[in-house]
Amino acid sequence: MSDVVVIGAGVAGCASALSLARRGLSVRVLERNPGEGASWAAAGILGPQLEAAGDGPMARLCLASRALYPELVASLAEATGIDVGYRRCGALRVALSAAGREEIAREIAWQKAAGLAMELCDGDAARARAPALCAEVTGGAWFADEARIDPPSLLRALRIAAERAGVQFRSGAAVRRVLVERARAVGALLEDGSRVEARWTVLAAGSWSSLIEASGLAPQAVRPVRGQIVELTPASPVLSQVVFGPGCYLSPRDDGRVLVGATMEFAGYVPAVTSGAVRDLLTAALRLVPALGEAPLGRTWAGLRPHPRDELPILGEGEIANLVFATGHFRNGVLLAPVTGKIVAALITGEEPPLDLAPFSAGRPGLAA
Ligand SMILES: Cc1cc2nc3c(=O)[nH]c(=O)nc-3n(C[C@H](O)[C@H](O)[C@H](O)COP(=O)(O)OP(=O)(O)OC[C@H]3O[C@@H](n4cnc5c(N)ncnc54)[C@H](O)[C@@H]3O)c2cc1C
Repeated sequence: MSDVVVIGAGVAGCASALSLARRGLSVRVLERNPGEGASWAAAGILGPQLEAAGDGPMARLCLASRALYPELVASLAEATGIDVGYRRCGALRVALSAAGREEIAREIAWQKAAGLAMELCDGDAARARAPALCAEVTGGAWFADEARIDPPSLLRALRIAAERAGVQFRSGAAVRRVLVERARAVGALLEDGSRVEARWTVLAAGSWSSLIEASGLAPQAVRPVRGQIVELTPASPVLSQVVFGPGCYLSPRDDGRVLVGATMEFAGYVPAVTSGAVRDLLTAALRLVPALGEAPLGRTWAGLRPHPRDELPILGEGEIANLVFATGHFRNGVLLAPVTGKIVAALITGEEPPLDLAPFSAGRPGLAA
């Protein structure tokens, strides 16, 4: 019997497994189908300031996680030699109208008071940072501390580092239910009827978390929200920073590629790429950065974000003892990977978690039907 069994090998499960193993616990990760999850599909934007329309527990959780990234990235490079593409490239959020610019200013006003790096800018100042932006851009805001990462490299590095720290990964292991004895989780029951027992169980199954029986989560507590991405491959780099605009965001890569994302669709468990979504993303992207019209089309893909009813992650223990939730990260699971690992490890080793987890509890009213 191991100390911990983790259900799901996306960024939440892998970051948790790594943190636990680095504290000396024996960990097994059960994964039904590597590559099925959202983590491979993400654009890799580490943007708490871009995403937060106000101060609050979610903004604080996201900021805390962004602050943990440099240390995590350095430790992954040391353990695996992999460059996970972490770049503190900054991000621009831009508008195409006067009203849009005012809305941005209103939504981020709290950030100045909170001492976060942000600058409001007019259209010319935005174009001075990103000259490829179109003439219609009326302005917006510049966030110097926002960053990006390459999610497939991050996931690979987390998994290799975890394996080197002693974690055992089992692929093709489909979990049917949490094993519960006397109101205490004791591991997982697989679809093939076998049992994997552990002192602690971590539920990190992304969009599929509510489908696993006996966790205590309501059947619709976490649902999939599909996101589609179009990759463009310009001959030379067009952008160096992340750009958030109306109808799309643009996430550049060192080699000049630009990921155009992403749709938000309740479309069940169907990670399809649709022609209408590709059209809409390209229309928005080419309006914002006309030069991308010359760029060859690269790949397209879709992933399923784990969407909790109230859009807050589910972190911490629920009604069943020794079961820890690390799920429901929705649009920010890559950003939240470091803090998720830290929280899960703290709870299981009996330490104080780095933040108050009450707003993220599995028992909160916002999750109920
Ligand atoms: C298009 C798109 C763009 C995104 N962009 C960003 C971004 O820029 N920044 C950001 O921070 N976040 C982004 N996200 C969100 C982010 O990808 C997710 O929040 C995050 O990947 C969730 O990680 P996870 O480990 O919880 O889930 P997943 O990565 O989905 O992993 C869950 C794993 O559990 C496994 N599993 C499920 N059921 C079972 C079972 N019964 N038994 C065993 N294993 C099981 C699955 O196979 C899967 O591998 C994006 C998502 C999408 C789709």
